[in-house]
Amino acid sequence: MAKIIDGKKIAASIRSDCKIRVEKLKDESGVTPGLAVILIGEDPASSVYVRNKIEACKAVGIKSSSYRHDADITTDELVVLIEKLNIDPEVHGILVQLPLPPHIDMERVLETISIDKDVDGFHLYNVGGLVVGKMVFSPCTPYGVVKMLESENIPVEGQNVVIVGASNIVGKPMALMLMARDATVSICHAKTRDLAQFTILADILVVAAGVPNLIIPQMVKTGAVVIDVGINRLPNGSLQGDVDFEGVSKKASYITPVPGGVGPMTVTMLLVNTIEAAERHAVQK
Ligand code: NAP
Repeated sequence: MAKIIDGKKIAASIRSDCKIRVEKLKDESGVTPGLAVILIGEDPASSVYVRNKIEACKAVGIKSSSYRHDADITTDELVVLIEKLNIDPEVHGILVQLPLPPHIDMERVLETISIDKDVDGFHLYNVGGLVVGKMVFSPCTPYGVVKMLESENIPVEGQNVVIVGASNIVGKPMALMLMARDATVSICHAKTRDLAQFTILADILVVAAGVPNLIIPQMVKTGAVVIDVGINRLPNGSLQGDVDFEGVSKKASYITPVPGGVGPMTVTMLLVNTIEAAERHAVQK
């Protein structure tokens, strides 16, 4: 039976370090880390994510401010708001909750965020920085996965890593971060022919496709480490990952649950990035 990687527990331990870092920063330089969270429209899932992020900030002493706007806001108006936050000395991180309504020019919005405050790591500069190993902030979900592997002392160097899902926010940065740690990485996506022929080779399998039960035991090598990033809400309201947890946990050496796996790590790494941004700001003061 696989060992369950307890994301909640690892996240709690990182969050208690965060609390100590925030207190130290306040004592030593009078700086309180500040995160501005922008939410556009009424998407219920986004509202829940934003609420969780704000609560998580409060619990570690980060001052969060939220900016909620109706879905009919224009790209220009959003850009003006971000420009104001860019020069606000009390704001060290700016997060625009995605997805944005389709009429908004997402790329322009993300590229308006000052790279020193881009705690989600979605600015083109940070994306390019990932490619050459010089990023300012690591994107939170793949960063959380790396921290989970580290916390379980799972080696990455020289391992065959297969990532299912090639999005800009999870799959691609995940691949780059694990390549930077000397893994041999393959990325699969919806047009990959015979997914199983790739997944079966994985020492570490990271799944971020958004398809419930995509990964079944026959697709997993015995002893593999399986990280399930997927979050799918089923018609009965429950949450499920992309991996058949019951079946695959009989074959894998490690597995992450959904919920309670990667999810709590994502929010935690946002806190870490925001504190990091505030610490850098304090040094420059
Ligand atoms: P996304 O933008 O929809 O991307 C999904 C990726 O999976 C795409 O590259 C797609 O391929 C690929 N894919 C879809 N169906 C596939 C299939 N049958 N076989 C192989 N690949 C397939 O989604 P995302 O934002 O990356 O999120 C992925 C999942 O992770 C979602 O369930 C999301 O809710 C979850 N998520 C969780 C967290 C967390 O904190 N735990 C954070 C972010 C996202 P194409 O490129 O060919 O379309």
